[in-house]
Amino acid sequence: MEKTRIKALVTGGAGFIGSHLVETLINDGHEVIALDDLSSGCWENLKHVATMPGLKMVEADITDINTLRPLFNGVDWVFHLAGKADIVPSIEHPDIYYAANVQGTFNVLECARAANVKRLIYAASSSCYGIPDVYPTPESAEIRPQYPYALTKFMGEEMVLHWAQVYGLPVLSLRLFNVYGPRSRTTGAYGAVFGVFLAQKLAGKPYTVVGDGKQSRDFTYVTDVAEAFAAAAASNISGEIFNVGSNHHYDINELVGHLGGDGGDGGDGGDIEYIPKRPGEPDCTFADVSRIQMHLGWHAKVDFPTGVAHMLESIELWREAPLWDSESIHEATKVWFKYLGTH
Ligand code: UDP
Repeated sequence: MEKTRIKALVTGGAGFIGSHLVETLINDGHEVIALDDLSSGCWENLKHVATMPGLKMVEADITDINTLRPLFNGVDWVFHLAGKADIVPSIEHPDIYYAANVQGTFNVLECARAANVKRLIYAASSSCYGIPDVYPTPESAEIRPQYPYALTKFMGEEMVLHWAQVYGLPVLSLRLFNVYGPRSRTTGAYGAVFGVFLAQKLAGKPYTVVGDGKQSRDFTYVTDVAEAFAAAAASNISGEIFNVGSNHHYDINELVGHLGGDGGDGGDGGDIEYIPKRPGEPDCTFADVSRIQMHLGWHAKVDFPTGVAHMLESIELWREAPLWDSESIHEATKVWFKYLGTH
């Protein structure tokens, strides 16, 4: 880690991963501008560091380049995490995803280029691999986006690398695998399994397990991810893509086990209510992390039982989260089955 005081700008700084990254950077002694349009993030996420002198919180939308431009003055490091997430709304509103994830990334790149920033680190998504052939999946695996969210995040990544190639902007792209941890989204569309299960646990309702629960995910704890971003910025490597994963994968039944069996009586389903497997979803995600280990010396430190225990400590954050059951999930995922399941 560099010891000089850096001025960093984090787009999506009030979001789940962004807020953890802001905390890491502030604790490392850097000056940080947290930029967010507050569409899914909230300043509450930064309450632990809100009074620190180095932090500035700015409400701004990355699709508005004129508001964005002056904020980049004097910035050394840009972390571009702002964007639209979730599968179903991306199928319903590809225009919104294009605007935020593609045009928004273009705007951030142009502002970064004009301001001559020293480093730009992009939050890419492992969803670009779709259903991969190879496990653990290396960065060289074929790109197979299955829905507009995955496609637009990948298009953003292509632009980031292109800006390195053509304009010499020093960039790295981090492909994140199933990031989880406190402050992961508690509102809005059906998504990320942790939020779904924690709300179900609080309500004493059964866990809605997809398929047979034997599918696995490379669950990566959010503070490890924040450290990967910080390490990426501090390095001199540019124009590269790195997977960010835990070096393991865990199946959903194991997650249910760690959450404890008190997910409600669930009627005849016990603690678990099985729901149909969704089209286009892989049976496994599992990152090959040898490149990031080799080039940045980064590896995940928080193991799954520890990470899940932290989630349970902060379970009250999900008290107001939407409570899903098989019926409401069936309704909420109709377009998913309609568009991804038929061809
Ligand atoms: N999952 C589940 N029940 C749910 C939501 C998700 O069993 O109500 C499973 C899903 O099949 C997947 C894993 O949890 O294997 C992670 O799903 P999530 O939507 O969080 O991430 P992604 O599928 O994009 O990796």
